[in-house]
Amino acid sequence: MKATIQASYIDGSFIEPHGREVMQSINPANGEVIGSVTLADETDAKQAIAAANRAFASFSRTTKEERIDILRRMHKAVSAHIDDLTAAMVLEYGGTRGFSSLMMQGAAEVFQQAEIALNNIEFVRKWGTTTVFYEPVGVAGLITPWNANVLFLCIKSAAAFSAGCPVVIKPSELSALQTQTFLECLQEAKLPPGILNVVTGRGDVVGAELVRNPDVSKISFTGSAPVGRSIMRDGAATMKRVTLELGGKSPNILLDDADLATAIPNALLIGWMNSGQACAAGTRLLVPKSQLETVKKAILATLPSFPVGDPSDPKTAVGPMVTRKQYERVQSYIQRGIAEGAEVLAGGVGHPKGLEGGNYVKPTVFVNVHNDMAIAREEIFGPVLCVIGYDDEDDAIRIANDTQFGLYGFVSGKDADRARRVAARILAGRVAVNGLLDDQQAPFGGFKHSGVGREFGTFGIEAYLEPRAILG
Ligand code: NAD
Repeated sequence: MKATIQASYIDGSFIEPHGREVMQSINPANGEVIGSVTLADETDAKQAIAAANRAFASFSRTTKEERIDILRRMHKAVSAHIDDLTAAMVLEYGGTRGFSSLMMQGAAEVFQQAEIALNNIEFVRKWGTTTVFYEPVGVAGLITPWNANVLFLCIKSAAAFSAGCPVVIKPSELSALQTQTFLECLQEAKLPPGILNVVTGRGDVVGAELVRNPDVSKISFTGSAPVGRSIMRDGAATMKRVTLELGGKSPNILLDDADLATAIPNALLIGWMNSGQACAAGTRLLVPKSQLETVKKAILATLPSFPVGDPSDPKTAVGPMVTRKQYERVQSYIQRGIAEGAEVLAGGVGHPKGLEGGNYVKPTVFVNVHNDMAIAREEIFGPVLCVIGYDDEDDAIRIANDTQFGLYGFVSGKDADRARRVAARILAGRVAVNGLLDDQQAPFGGFKHSGVGREFGTFGIEAYLEPRAILG
């Protein structure tokens, strides 16, 4: 049975949107229509912004304790529905069961981590005869992509609520079912009406309205670099505060003392997590030239533990691409890599055998890649790993930093001090040493074209605050 998906949630209720465009929701694993959503439009967005503004008057004056109470209720509601949220991510997005379940556990944890961070923030700071009050910036517009929609909804709303800002969320139109599942489970949190409003519609319609509307004070956006740039430009007219979490082409440096038995499985995990549709993926594997042959053999030996297939199968490591368009995009990059002279060690163009009915691509490893090639410079957003040889440590760092992006970096090596020294020379918002590590109190965000501002921890909450100093 096809689901009828609700696009608008305003002032604490699902409402019939003013928008009339109907979009079908397609299961990327088999192309079947699973539901339809009538998309919201500018009128719906304006209604949601008005509701959030009404809520601002009281919500902006809530105490830390009241905000913590909201975070706890949200944590409880999301924790109670991890299985439902996981199922929606598998069905609508094609996320693998294992990864989707981890994402949803992370999404629930976001609220507990926000509570810790909130407790670490002093909203009133004094010295001499000066007092600085940290005030909520106003209504926040939250715009999210399709690759981890519910996680981003949780990260952004937890930070905004910690600061006392009501939100209007514009989720990806490709995540309507996941958003509805999230809103249904949030009913149990009994949020004050108007602090969380959702309008699912097109980016250039609903997203653009949030960006230009003078009653929205801040935009927190996760998505592609071109849209991020347009938000910065168009938001300037109303002097929007912006946090932009954009793409990446993250380097993963294998130092010459790395333990390949762990570093190679980690490299495939880091490169292909979320089926390669991950902004933080380490898609450039930098290897000492003297070890290239050994690394190639180690990669081939590890591939069987990364099976591609049905995302609902718990053993699957790589699922389908979200849409046919994304499938075509990944195909075009694989063709381009071959045309540029890179060598296919594994994978290649076309569907994996027996998986022709969905948006599946072959997890692909390119060797003999030069950092000037498009496959090494542009974000592909699919399971395509580029192996690049380097001469020495300085050369590795030069190649790692020779990119317009700077979201994440990874370094592996037995000598952890040396690995940390190398990590400190990578121009990226986060660098993980020996593995795929996360810390929800650590700042997350990018250098260079990977974005502006940071999320998580006190960094994430302060991005929704405006300091006001009273002197004397
Ligand atoms: P996208 O930029 O196309 O869309 C992201 C969101 O912006 C969607 O909700 C979309 O509807 C909306 N949007 C589109 N045009 C808009 C406009 N003119 N004004 C306002 N909003 C608009 O990205 P996507 O294809 O959904 O997601 C993939 C991209 O997201 C990749 O480039 C990836 O690197 C990036 N990403 C970054 C992070 C991070 O934290 N840095 C995380 C996940 C994804």
